[in-house]
Amino acid sequence: MHEKLSAIYDNVLRRNPGEIEFHQAVREVLESIGPVLGKHPEYAESKIIERICEPERQIIFRVPWEDDQGEVQINRGFRVEFNSALGPYKGGLRFHPSVYLGIVKFLGFEQIFKNGLTGLPIGGGKGGSDFDPKGRSEREVMRFCQSFMTELYRHIGEYTDVPAGDIGVGQREVGFLFGQYKRITNRYESGVITGKGLSYGGAQVRTEATGYGCTFFVEEMLKARGTSFDGKRVVVSGAGNVAIYTIEKVAQLGGVVVACSDSSGYVLDEGGIDVALLKQVKQVERGRLDSYAKRRGGEAVFVPGRSVWEVSCEVAMPSATQNEITGRDAETLVRGGCVAVGEGANMPTTPEGVRVFQEAGVAFGPGKAANAGGVATSALEMQQNASRDSWSFEYSEQRLRDIMTDIHTRCLATADEYGMPGDYVAGANIDGFRRVADAMLALGLV
Ligand code: NDP
Repeated sequence: MHEKLSAIYDNVLRRNPGEIEFHQAVREVLESIGPVLGKHPEYAESKIIERICEPERQIIFRVPWEDDQGEVQINRGFRVEFNSALGPYKGGLRFHPSVYLGIVKFLGFEQIFKNGLTGLPIGGGKGGSDFDPKGRSEREVMRFCQSFMTELYRHIGEYTDVPAGDIGVGQREVGFLFGQYKRITNRYESGVITGKGLSYGGAQVRTEATGYGCTFFVEEMLKARGTSFDGKRVVVSGAGNVAIYTIEKVAQLGGVVVACSDSSGYVLDEGGIDVALLKQVKQVERGRLDSYAKRRGGEAVFVPGRSVWEVSCEVAMPSATQNEITGRDAETLVRGGCVAVGEGANMPTTPEGVRVFQEAGVAFGPGKAANAGGVATSALEMQQNASRDSWSFEYSEQRLRDIMTDIHTRCLATADEYGMPGDYVAGANIDGFRRVADAMLALGLV
């Protein structure tokens, strides 16, 4: 790492003790942007990097709610408003027991550059809670969401901070959150949250956008290498929003997704995952993957408690959670013939894993670029809300495809410009960073 950046990184470690995921996310960006400082001394002079590493505002709050047995439960809520140089803070809410400040800050930090990379007017933020929705009734989830919003509402707004979904927060939760916001403020302010249902201000393709967008990005990476998804063996981790729509789009483009997973294990289905059955099990019944394998019959088997990355494939699309592909998993994948990786999840590959892929010449699409279709389509939802308009599915999908193609082109062009051809990590970090840094310079010391 560049000497100046190394000193900044040490300071980040000292000022944010114990937040290991945040440290990892900062390190990855700082490792990429050294060459930019040579070309742009003004960034260092104005302490742009030190400023970017410090959130503009961090909110931590108590979320009390009552369970179905009448017992009071207490969770912790977070919203980190990281950077608003390019637009209102924008980023999802994660409800998962592992959530603490370090996770929210890693996600918020990544979001700054990802949102910059989309070229759309959105800043970076993220939030969530250590609430675990698993096994909770719909009424309990509703009461939790209402309590969460009863504090959060005062910090957000269509021109201030616009949350959305993430792990554990889908359309159902967004509905409860928006309902409570509307009730407290007496304003039908559709643009205050994205990922809404179509009947109350949601946008076509937002549900599908992260998975579809990641698939379009990988399609572009394959095209750049003179190949395509056609007939390729693909493994997708996760079985949630991002995974399901990745599987759907890969199949439409001719790939065969042979495995997917959840936190209980993975399912191997050599005939290709049946998306309709997967949606029924995971989205409608909120069940586990063993139920998919039982009902699918044929060759499908459920493998409990093991990593899906032991399944060989040509294309890997991690779409579950952070640090799910270790260095060893990456070596296994490379040995198994993997030629491309598209990160649907945020930071799913450990630094060792990234190194293994890059050294093996695998086309590696980092989450900041590959999964930016979700937030980009959220920005399109905000546009539609602002103009009280709604676009067709076909038009929205074409906009998403164009955005992903453009991000792919800019990653490659930026990597070339800095003498690192084919390095999507450097391309994404540098392009995203420059956009935010230029806006911060223009706005002065704010
Ligand atoms: P969902 O909650 O819909 O699905 C998450 C999936 O990942 C589930 O199958 C879940 O299994 C699995 N999973 C989550 N945490 C773990 C864990 N610790 N260990 C093993 N499996 C786990 O979330 P999304 O699909 O929305 O999000 C997936 C990833 O994509 C996240 O990294 C998120 O930040 C990222 N992302 C999401 C966007 C979006 O638009 N939703 C946008 C950009 C990125 P189980 O149900 O068993 O817990």
